[in-house]
Amino acid sequence: MNSTSEDFNEVLSKSKKILERYALCDSCLGRLFANLGYGLSNADRGRAIKTLLLLKAYNSLHGITDENLAKNLARTGFKPALTLLQAKEISVKIDACHLCRGLMERIEEIAEKTINALKDYEFDTFLVGATVPQHLAEEEEEIWRQYKINTGEMIKSELTREIGKQIEKQMHKKYDPQKPDITIIIYLGDTGEVSIHVNPSPIFIYGKYQKLKRGIPQTPFKDDNTQISIQTLIADPIVRAAEARGAKFHAAGREDVDVLTLGSGRPFIVEVQGPRKRTLNLKEIEEEINKNARGIIEVHGLKYVSRSMVAKIKALAEFAKKTYKATVEFEEEVTDEDAKKIEENFRNIEIKQRTPIRVLHRRVDKVRTKIVYWIKAEKTGPQRLTLTIKCQGGLYVKELIHGDQGRTKPNISELIGKKVKRIILDVVDIEEKT
Ligand SMILES: [Zn+2]
Repeated sequence: MNSTSEDFNEVLSKSKKILERYALCDSCLGRLFANLGYGLSNADRGRAIKTLLLLKAYNSLHGITDENLAKNLARTGFKPALTLLQAKEISVKIDACHLCRGLMERIEEIAEKTINALKDYEFDTFLVGATVPQHLAEEEEEIWRQYKINTGEMIKSELTREIGKQIEKQMHKKYDPQKPDITIIIYLGDTGEVSIHVNPSPIFIYGKYQKLKRGIPQTPFKDDNTQISIQTLIADPIVRAAEARGAKFHAAGREDVDVLTLGSGRPFIVEVQGPRKRTLNLKEIEEEINKNARGIIEVHGLKYVSRSMVAKIKALAEFAKKTYKATVEFEEEVTDEDAKKIEENFRNIEIKQRTPIRVLHRRVDKVRTKIVYWIKAEKTGPQRLTLTIKCQGGLYVKELIHGDQGRTKPNISELIGKKVKRIILDVVDIEEKT
């Protein structure tokens, strides 16, 4: 005998022993030997094994040669064995499958329920997962252990694979565990109840915004969803169009409430959570955002990006070079010499900045080192200087100007020895490369 037929005899003798003890449906029996054969479902495999065992239990010459085996086959619901015993007037009771308790026979029903749950979602690729009752997995492993089976497949894998096949076939979608548009989780309860959870992967929409009116925060203040913010102005129309659950707003830094962002604008990404629609007309959405925002903000360049861009624009906040325009009113007269002094002193200089007093309640108190590349200063009124400041992202510019009680060093106020009365600040450029 070659090794293949030895293996095969072992499959049969193990199956016979297992069925003496447990009633198993075709799928659950076949799944114990899942890596044998080709192009077969576990149910095909299980049925084939039962068929071969029935050949051992009966032949037309001698009749039933192994009544116990025939009974063990019949109680799993195996039709030919049942018919045989009926013909011989031997009564037998069908037992529910010891492992799945009939679950595997409900695959089509579960698939139908799943497909129904998916019908309102747009997707091309999917992933199916399942949670099964703990005891089910344990009992399966117990059989593997008892009968030294190393060819088994977990019930969860079969379930998700079979449901996946149905989705592919009936909905013409593609199984893709790496980049699924949608993840389906099938929850099986202890008493056989099934619930389907559908979780669409987020989509990421990139763009840039200009903030054209002062007094609007980037994100809503805590516990106030009714307040207008840049986030709500941009994200709400996107969430509506995508029929999504919500959105996260990621921006390359933030300007203060009273600061404008001009020039090419500030990069942002809207992470759209739980979208039912994934193919959006971004041009139309852009127009809608701009129309609704009525001149408060303006967005442009909306496009799809991948998740990895989120980290990139966050890094941008810290390191990208930014250019600000500041109109600074001092408490006393300023001179052209003051302007000159500022330009001369703030050239490629490191600024040591302790966390500003005004943000201490939400930021850890530490010293940051940021670079000011240059400042262009011009006297534009008796007590007014207009400054163009090019600096590293993350620098607190107002504090650079007024000094924050000495927490930012060096600072402009200290340099010229004049106190600051008022600052009007605009972001005029955010450099995109990091
Ligand atoms: Zn079963």
